[in-house]
Amino acid sequence: MLEQQDVSKRPWFVGGRQGLFFGDPHVAELLASVLNVPESGEPLRLVDVAVPVKIAGNSNTGVLGAHLHWHWVRGIIEASLDATDKKKQVEVLIADERGEWLLKPPAESAANLVALKEQTSWRDYFSAETRIQSSPSQQGLGWVVVVRASSSLALADIHQTRLLMLWLSLIFSASFAAVAWFISARVVRPIEALADQARAHQNVRSVPADINREPPSRDEAGMLGQVMHELAFYDRVTGLVNRRLLMERLEMALSDNARTRNQGGLILINLDHFSLLNNTRGHDIGDLLLIAVAQRLSTVVRSQDTLARLRSDEFGVLLGSLDPEPDKAKQQASAIGAQILASFQQPFELAGEAYTGKASIGIKMFIGGDISATDVIKHADVAMFEAKRVGHDRCQFFDDSLQVLVDERFQLERDLRKGIPAELLLLYQKQVDSRGHILGAELLVRWTHPVLGMVSPAKFIPLAEETGLIMMLGSWVLETACTQLKRWEQHPERRDLVLAVNVSAKEFNQPGYVESVVGTLKRTGANPNRLKLEMTESILAADIELVVQKMQVLRALGVSFSLDDFGTGFSSLAYLQKMPLDQLKIDKSFVQDMATNVNDAAIVRTVIGLGQSLGLQVIAEGVETTEQLNFLEVNGCHLYQGYLFSQPITLEEFEKQVGA
Ligand code: C2E
Ligand code: MG
Ligand code: MG
Repeated sequence: MLEQQDVSKRPWFVGGRQGLFFGDPHVAELLASVLNVPESGEPLRLVDVAVPVKIAGNSNTGVLGAHLHWHWVRGIIEASLDATDKKKQVEVLIADERGEWLLKPPAESAANLVALKEQTSWRDYFSAETRIQSSPSQQGLGWVVVVRASSSLALADIHQTRLLMLWLSLIFSASFAAVAWFISARVVRPIEALADQARAHQNVRSVPADINREPPSRDEAGMLGQVMHELAFYDRVTGLVNRRLLMERLEMALSDNARTRNQGGLILINLDHFSLLNNTRGHDIGDLLLIAVAQRLSTVVRSQDTLARLRSDEFGVLLGSLDPEPDKAKQQASAIGAQILASFQQPFELAGEAYTGKASIGIKMFIGGDISATDVIKHADVAMFEAKRVGHDRCQFFDDSLQVLVDERFQLERDLRKGIPAELLLLYQKQVDSRGHILGAELLVRWTHPVLGMVSPAKFIPLAEETGLIMMLGSWVLETACTQLKRWEQHPERRDLVLAVNVSAKEFNQPGYVESVVGTLKRTGANPNRLKLEMTESILAADIELVVQKMQVLRALGVSFSLDDFGTGFSSLAYLQKMPLDQLKIDKSFVQDMATNVNDAAIVRTVIGLGQSLGLQVIAEGVETTEQLNFLEVNGCHLYQGYLFSQPITLEEFEKQVGA
């Protein structure tokens, strides 16, 4: 067909001279008419291929060209696709230059390339399309090859990842919910509770306590800030400045005064017997007293001073700047102290009942520059304790002699710590009945200090109580008593003796006290019926229910209880009835004065009567004369202890007195 024709410009010839040429599938109408192609509706398509041919001895290169029938080419493409394992995932579509299909998967319904593009989206397939044009000179010719992969298959891995993501997000949401719950329970709710408290506190507060206080804020953030500030710096019950803010102001006063050389003063006010009121009449009544005291103090304190509540029953007044002249400043402070004491003269009205509360006051004067805020408080505290010690309802300045006392106390504490139990000694003071028969003894501890000699328990028991050493001391006394009781079991004359052991309230209220007594009884094998515990009314300053519970446990074992120094403390019939007691011990101060003082005589008679009506034994301590003995005998008290019978003596002496 191409005879006599110049094919040198034909793409297949040009391409074929240079190497393998593979042309576009194109419709060959001319050839179709010659070749008598069967009528299938499909035009005859050919692909031109050409390769260079070298003829030996000739420098020219020939070209061998061929028309490949498209059906045949397509078969090869399909066969090669079948052979790959990508077949399932990858499909190849080929369209001619007009977009008519040259090759497509049987399932594909799009009529042509344009339709395909309209109908399918990337959600169904990922596809890539290339227009192949074997020669730029072959205008209009070219074929489009589309290679595509189904999205669901291609995304299979991604689906898995997505599932994983779903789980992760579920887990994350659950954790987030838990964290949110935690935050709300631990942070939000407490803050709400704090805010509630602060609101309540705003309502309770009735003291125009602090002139530096800001006016209430209007917006919520400001309010919350204020609430937090109030909780941090003001006392909830009284609305007064708290310890922290007082400390800050004290520090400020110290640095100001160091500059101005003005004197300053800190007054500490401690309510006497507050815990007793709190525990016997309830915390609500205790709070009422605190509020009433705050109100009274605020009328005494000058507007430039800071009135604070430092801890449960302790108030403080910071006199920021007083006269630069020390004596004048001291007079000013003393005058305020006296006014404070005077303000306690009138009884307080607590829920309709009158209550006469007293206070002890300690004052520390300062200038600043040479002392820290902590030391100012410490010194005022020492002075306050001294006021209490000397006799409540007093005002005491801190001075150097007090510092000596503090140092001494510190030294004594160190010595006591070292001296328990080696330097302790137990003395026995017998307890007798009307016939002079020895029923037992009270154990009274002594401390034989290597330098100071015999130290009175009146001096070292309070020290031991304050420092916690009382636990060590008490358990040694108890252990010694029980060991002794066990030894006496062998002696017919001694086996019925009862030993009375003094127990401090601090010791009794210690958690684990009951267990330690039970342990000591078991360890020593002593008979609990021979052990009597003496406690003072100060035991009532603790939770009465708990005290009663502890007493009952020990009493069930056979241990008996005596209420020591009866009449000197807080006596309430209601509490006496509640306590599982065996004995009342009339304090020696009444016994000693009953012959001369009608009041004391009346008290002694009342105590005896009270004991009888409650079914309790009554014993009198400090019996020194036969006159006293007779008075007691006549009025119905038949148990005695005192110098008339014996001083506290050593074990050997006591055993000698018992006989055998
Ligand atoms: P207390 O339990 O009331 O002991 C009675 C105190 O009165 C004892 O003082 C005793 O020596 C003294 N006394 C006894 N008969 C007479 C008398 O006829 N006339 C006078 N004027 N005094 C008499 P002591 O031994 O100095 O003990 C003082 C306090 O120390 C005791 O008072 C008790 O509360 C406490 N105490 C003593 N030993 C212990 C102990 O082992 N543990 C605890 N926690 N406290 C103890
Ligand atoms: Mg006693
Ligand atoms: Mg006593």
